[in-house]
Amino acid sequence: MNTYGIQYVSSREIVDRYLSFFCERGHYELSGSPLVLPGNSTSFVIAGMQPLLPYLRGQTIPPSPRLTCLQRCLRTDDIEAVGINSLKNTSFHMLGNWSIGDYGRREAITMALEFLLEHLGLEKATLWVTVFAGDPELCILPDEAAIEEWVRVGIPRERIVPLGVEDNLWEMGGIGLCGPCSEIFVDRGPNSGCGSLTCRPGCFCDRYLEIWNLVFMEFERLTNGALVSLPRRNVDTGLGLERVASVLQGAESNFSIDLFLPASERLTALQAGGEQTIELRARRIILDHLRAVLLAGFAGVEPGRDGRGSVVRRLIRRAARQGRLLGIQGPFLGELVEPLALGHGSLFTGEEHALLPTLKERITHEEALFARVLTMGLRYLEQIEPDGRNVISGEQLFRLHAEKGFPVDLATEILSERGITVDWLQYERSKEEHRRVSRVSAEKHFRGM
Ligand SMILES: [Zn+2]
Repeated sequence: MNTYGIQYVSSREIVDRYLSFFCERGHYELSGSPLVLPGNSTSFVIAGMQPLLPYLRGQTIPPSPRLTCLQRCLRTDDIEAVGINSLKNTSFHMLGNWSIGDYGRREAITMALEFLLEHLGLEKATLWVTVFAGDPELCILPDEAAIEEWVRVGIPRERIVPLGVEDNLWEMGGIGLCGPCSEIFVDRGPNSGCGSLTCRPGCFCDRYLEIWNLVFMEFERLTNGALVSLPRRNVDTGLGLERVASVLQGAESNFSIDLFLPASERLTALQAGGEQTIELRARRIILDHLRAVLLAGFAGVEPGRDGRGSVVRRLIRRAARQGRLLGIQGPFLGELVEPLALGHGSLFTGEEHALLPTLKERITHEEALFARVLTMGLRYLEQIEPDGRNVISGEQLFRLHAEKGFPVDLATEILSERGITVDWLQYERSKEEHRRVSRVSAEKHFRGM
């Protein structure tokens, strides 16, 4: 039993129970797509439903109108929040069930609640939900149908919270499929919250943890911004594995669940530092980033200069820098590869486990290449003195990048931890000047030939 008074369930077990629950209810189990979708040249899979878009749009006929799947995702759009926010991961596992023109709100809501209560053992009294409050400007009415369904399955009205477009009108990047959504939250108790009397789902604090999003895809947003109703309605849901595991395992964050436990212990053995906020954040970033690097590696993405490769390189460099904050000198990320794989067990395939020695070597090599630049850059940044307004000249930052090869984003982040900002106008001027000088010297060179 954990702090929620519920039985411990391992991540693997959550996955197995979820997939068999939905298969028993007529869903066809899709194998998760690779993290890199064929034909998608720049990005990773960022949402559980992304590989299903051709089905949801009606471009391809699905193997069944009911689908279920475990999907890996990787997104770095809010990478700075990792470690500060206990829920943010760059890589995560989404469990999902979909109705392609089949069931609607009633079944989606009934099945979700049944799964949480009877198959995961959550208490109904700890659950809250949000629904779409409607929007007069978009001419969409409040989602009374969803409220009705939640009331019907026994969620009291006071725990059904209507929220606006920002929170409860789901869309993926502006145009395309969208619709009102209904999110399920677990109340982690007053001790996890801000203490405000108005604290409820949607509050900035950690008390209400969103675990599952049910999206009722009913509209398509056209390029001119208008919403049109879809001829066939779909349901798209996503249950965050790491989040629900943190609840069922009584873990303080996503990084204290079984998947990360062996790597976390190994990191404790390696680190010299204490247990302050800065070390806690560093540990979370390292665990998060390294797992993302492994998952990308399984999909064939190596650290590099451009596109996905540059994302992997950035993750390794950020993690390496956090190691310094823990008092670890020199490459260490490779040490965590096997413990991380141990924690994930059969969530990594046999072929993926076989790839680990290669990935470990590649990560260590990349980290070692960066180690000297990192040491030098950290020393340089420490010595930088900002002016009275806590701003440094853009030229200093540009030189660190151009002459020493230190990444600008990492330098900016390190400076911002000291409350220092950069004169970006001057940075651009230095960059332009540098370009001009190189051009002139290249021209001279050619004239001399
Ligand atoms: Zn709050």
